[in-house]
Amino acid sequence: KKYVYYFGKTKAEGDAKMKNLLGGKGANLAEMVRLGFPVPPGFTISTEVCKYYYDHGEKYPEELVGEVKAAMEMLEKETGKGFGSAERPLLVSVRSGAAISMPGMMDTILNLGLNNETVKGLINESGNPRFCYDAYRRFLQMFGDVVLKIEHSEFEKALSSVKKEKGVKLDTELDATDMEEVVKRYLEVYKKAGKEFPQDPWEQLWMATNAVFGSWMNERAIKYRALNGVKEGDLLGTAVNVCTMVFGNTGDDSGTGVAFTRDPNTGEKKLYGEYLPNAQGEDVVAGIRTPYPMTKLHEINPAVYDQLLDIFEKLEKHYRDMQDIEFTVEHGTLYLLQTRNGKRTPYASVKIAVDLAKEGLITKEEAVMRVTPDHIETLLHPYFTKETLESAEKLAKGIAASPGAASGVIAFDPETAERMVRDEGKMVILVRPETSPEDIAGMAAAQGILTSTGGKTSHAAVVARGMGKTCIVGCEAVEVDEHAKEMKVNGKILKEGDWLSIDGTTGEVFMGKLDSVKPQGLEGPLAEVLGWADEIRRLGVRTNADTPKDASIARGFGAEGIGLTRTEHMFFQEDRIFAMRQMITSSTLEQRKKALSKLLPMQEDDFYGIFKAMEGYPVTIRLLDPPLHEFLPKEDEDIRDLAKEMGMGYDELKATIEELHEFNPMMGFRGCRLAVVYPEIAEMQTRAIIGAAIKLVKEGMNVIPEIMIPLIIELEELKYVKAIIVKAADEMIREAGVDLVYKVGTMIEVPRAALTADEIAREAEFFSFGTNDLTQMTFGFSRDDYGKFVGHYLEKGILPTDPFQKLDRVGVGQLVKMGTEKGRSTRPDLKVGICGEHGGEPSSVEFCHLVGLNYVSCSPYRVPIARLAAAQAVI
Ligand code: PEP
Ligand code: MG
Repeated sequence: KKYVYYFGKTKAEGDAKMKNLLGGKGANLAEMVRLGFPVPPGFTISTEVCKYYYDHGEKYPEELVGEVKAAMEMLEKETGKGFGSAERPLLVSVRSGAAISMPGMMDTILNLGLNNETVKGLINESGNPRFCYDAYRRFLQMFGDVVLKIEHSEFEKALSSVKKEKGVKLDTELDATDMEEVVKRYLEVYKKAGKEFPQDPWEQLWMATNAVFGSWMNERAIKYRALNGVKEGDLLGTAVNVCTMVFGNTGDDSGTGVAFTRDPNTGEKKLYGEYLPNAQGEDVVAGIRTPYPMTKLHEINPAVYDQLLDIFEKLEKHYRDMQDIEFTVEHGTLYLLQTRNGKRTPYASVKIAVDLAKEGLITKEEAVMRVTPDHIETLLHPYFTKETLESAEKLAKGIAASPGAASGVIAFDPETAERMVRDEGKMVILVRPETSPEDIAGMAAAQGILTSTGGKTSHAAVVARGMGKTCIVGCEAVEVDEHAKEMKVNGKILKEGDWLSIDGTTGEVFMGKLDSVKPQGLEGPLAEVLGWADEIRRLGVRTNADTPKDASIARGFGAEGIGLTRTEHMFFQEDRIFAMRQMITSSTLEQRKKALSKLLPMQEDDFYGIFKAMEGYPVTIRLLDPPLHEFLPKEDEDIRDLAKEMGMGYDELKATIEELHEFNPMMGFRGCRLAVVYPEIAEMQTRAIIGAAIKLVKEGMNVIPEIMIPLIIELEELKYVKAIIVKAADEMIREAGVDLVYKVGTMIEVPRAALTADEIAREAEFFSFGTNDLTQMTFGFSRDDYGKFVGHYLEKGILPTDPFQKLDRVGVGQLVKMGTEKGRSTRPDLKVGICGEHGGEPSSVEFCHLVGLNYVSCSPYRVPIARLAAAQAVI
């Protein structure tokens, strides 16, 4: 079996496609040889050996020794040097390299092959004893550190002692004799540590190989893979690359550099990188000397610079992506040590993808595939940089409910939040046990929202997402004491006015104030690539919007209509919640009609604004669906005010409220059940919708109102509510004498509705899957309470993901698929959409595409993500 792959000056046994076997570095080195680029020859020990090594108690396959010997002989022949030769010693580097790049996670050893004899040969050959002893002592240090685990600081101490005796500060001030002395002291460090430095180069090589394979399972590497979603078993292991050493530190005609073919920060097409004359790679990394920009190389060695430019262009063409290249110049000769697809910022990712497509290097489809939902998320929301997060003090982690990064002083109630922002010009983080409609103004004023309970579809999450505001919910580690105005978290007590930072993208809560980076917005390359996505996708993308403002934001993000207006959300505002409560707590028809007559004009205004903002695109308006617990007044003061307005006694109203109390509000008196009991509510809302539409028709605008009935369970129920709507609507249209077409449809949110969708479709003119409730009722997980236990389900691997975030294809998804098929069996042209929070989640969007839905609908800030995901689902 073949375990070792040789790459020489002109021929290589591997190629770029063999990443799994040779690792990224090995495969690309081989590929560069094939392309005719200068690479120092060497060989790669495959990742299969790594797997074998771990499967067989750290032993190698029998054939390996022979294969490595043979490869080394070829290397000696090609370089004209000898491994262990005291005349012309062959020195090698030994580096790790897995199929995915794991920067700095595993081990590297340079200058291997040096010992007390070969160093003399190197001196003879190079005529530069200082350089040779320096190379030797670097090798001793790396080998001791990496292979024998001798404390790095012991070597530092030895080096310092020589410098001190010499009376100098910098390594560069040490001459050949000093360096020889350093070598001696380093060898003593080995002795003192009770270790022996192997003088035999072959022993060095095998020990180094063991160390590199061993580093595959070091803590850092394991953690890195876990963080990057690589499961154990996905990869065979790391390869080991043994490469002829080339030296960038042999004089001023030598040097080393790292370059990107495009700017990894901005994506601009210009050479970006650093060059350090007379240095080895580690000097650049260690930051001992400041490297020059690449332009400096142009001055120092224009021929090499031009050669590099030419190579960079060819590499980009070949790999069809931006490259990150390491190179060394040895006595004026260029060598490439590595190339890989360069890491880049989200902005650069998008720009480079778009530019490459325009340059004809990749197709538009490929460009769309290279943009990720995460890129869009970061470009549209503020974020904390990696550097900021590294030094931040993390307090807790909750459920990431709405992305972004926010810092502010803590307020524990919405009034204080508003006041601090309005009167004191502060930035505020609103911290609550949970939020309710009364908190809306405080939420709007705050930079971000943190709640200790709730899940992805709880009030705080849905509202914050709609506002595009950073939000974390279900952060159980936070204990809020609203009255004492303080919170306990992880043994710390934070008070009102203390600084707090939250990352809504990861769910992490941090102490103090962290600087965030402002978003780019939907413009430039991002807008362009989303335009391409629109050409490709077949799924429509609508938005969930409750106000004209949200509607126009969503239009700006490319929404093609509204898939859900939650009319109860219009009453979250303080001046309106009052009328809403009045309606809910009315005990007589008369009282209710009075409250409704207040609500009607407000709603009509809103609908007018929303229709207008949507510029003739369809607008789905849902009849009232208020889980009562979100709207009932709790404070005595509120109850008193309300009682007065309604001409009732406090006690009487209090009793009504108590009567309305439900043990299970999410499955209680909500949705169309409200319309069944109080038809006048559905009638009022229909009048508001149709009234607004008629106005606009008269103004000459095209309006497509779609009236949607929530929480339907049964055909007869739908018939009943629909009749109320149709009667009111037709009457108004007839009276106004206008041409207006409207539709009446329903949400499918209860399993029974999905199961009887064929019957329901006889009356429903469209379906919209409310997958928040459908998930809640299919799983039997309360939307507001599952935060308490879902973490355990995820940790223990019982559920792969949060089902309220990513649509559960096997269970809930089956209901969606079946409901769609059944619905279309009675009404073939049935338009079907989804308006649960899943409508903006990429994997769920893909599912919707696969089961043939007509559109997805999501909060405004997720519209761009849905457009992308819908296109990616096609490709
Ligand atoms: C749903 O249930 O998925 C839905 C969109 O309605 P709401 O979240 O308002 O219950
Ligand atoms: Mg619902």
